Amino acid sequence: MSNETIKIQTLNNNNRMSTQELLQLITSKLEEGYTNFDIDASGQHNIGGSSWAKDRKSELLFTLRNPGQRVGAMAMKGTKIVVEGSAPADVGWLNSGATIVVKGDCGDTAAHCAAGGKIYAAGRVGTRSGALMKHDPKFEVPEFWVLKNTGSFGFEFMGGGTAVVCGYECEDLPSVLGNRSCVGMVGGTIYVRGKIDDIAECVSINALNQEDIDFLSQGLVKFLNEIEKSNLYDKLSDWTEWKKIIPAQNQAKTRMSVKDFRKNHWVENGIFGDFIHDDFVVYPMPSTGEGRVHVPNWNGANCIDCKICLNNCPESAIETNDKQYSSNDNKCIGCGICEAVCPKKCWTIVSDRKEIS
Ligand code: SF4
Ligand code: SF4
Repeated sequence: MSNETIKIQTLNNNNRMSTQELLQLITSKLEEGYTNFDIDASGQHNIGGSSWAKDRKSELLFTLRNPGQRVGAMAMKGTKIVVEGSAPADVGWLNSGATIVVKGDCGDTAAHCAAGGKIYAAGRVGTRSGALMKHDPKFEVPEFWVLKNTGSFGFEFMGGGTAVVCGYECEDLPSVLGNRSCVGMVGGTIYVRGKIDDIAECVSINALNQEDIDFLSQGLVKFLNEIEKSNLYDKLSDWTEWKKIIPAQNQAKTRMSVKDFRKNHWVENGIFGDFIHDDFVVYPMPSTGEGRVHVPNWNGANCIDCKICLNNCPESAIETNDKQYSSNDNKCIGCGICEAVCPKKCWTIVSDRKEIS
């Protein structure tokens, strides 16, 4: 086995290593006995996932910059992944025992389906993070630590594991768990510091007991150490600011059909329902006025006042006054005939596509 760090650059001039090429390179180096990787990635997926040392015992370390989606997906016990910065969606998807440290924000679905190991996020995490976390009693409890807040729909159908959302720098947010969090949560524990709003009815929100405080005070030290923010311990360890979310105890009494749950409780009108009302009317492209795509500009430096443009405009949009020409925005359809017919190239059609508020 070799402790030497393999450095990998995935960009060579304008040539980018594909995900497949990078993963094959990592695999070949693992087979040669290397365990430490330092990778300047360029969006390659699945780095650090499902990897093991040649001797099946040594620990692996991946230090990454700019990884793509699913960094650490299905990563195994004995693997440590450190992302120096932020990472896109699916960080630690189905984590199977690795320690994954992201020193910035995580995209959507961080820790999705995580079943083991620890995921530490030093910033915010996106929507549906922590969804479907689970715990097989044969293995250690998966943990998911977030310094700031989560996006909406977090911890959907959580079945096990422990999540900790520290709510740091989230004082202005109405909820550190976004909207509609914890829908369908049947297991696990979420510790939250800060405001919570619009949370599913199937969970209960409780004060911490001593066991909770012991877990958090020990875990917080390790978490903050991993993300290099140990100085925040005092600020985050006022346990009166924390709450504990667990599945409600009375679920048996509120049991409902899957159809009723899907249609009326998960997302109104079902997951494929529209979040905003759509009248299904297809509106034509604006052809005149504010918002039309093509607009004629007139530059009269060479104009000979021949009026060819004025006489050929199909919308009678061209107006003239004292040898100055202009087009009326509310008549002009941007057809370009003026540009085509002008012998002195005074008209130029420009693209003026803009958002309509
Ligand atoms: S673009 Fe067409 S409609 Fe507009 S001023 Fe020129 S000729 Fe008239
Ligand atoms: S066609 Fe050209 S040169 Fe003639 S009046 Fe129009 S802008 Fe002027």
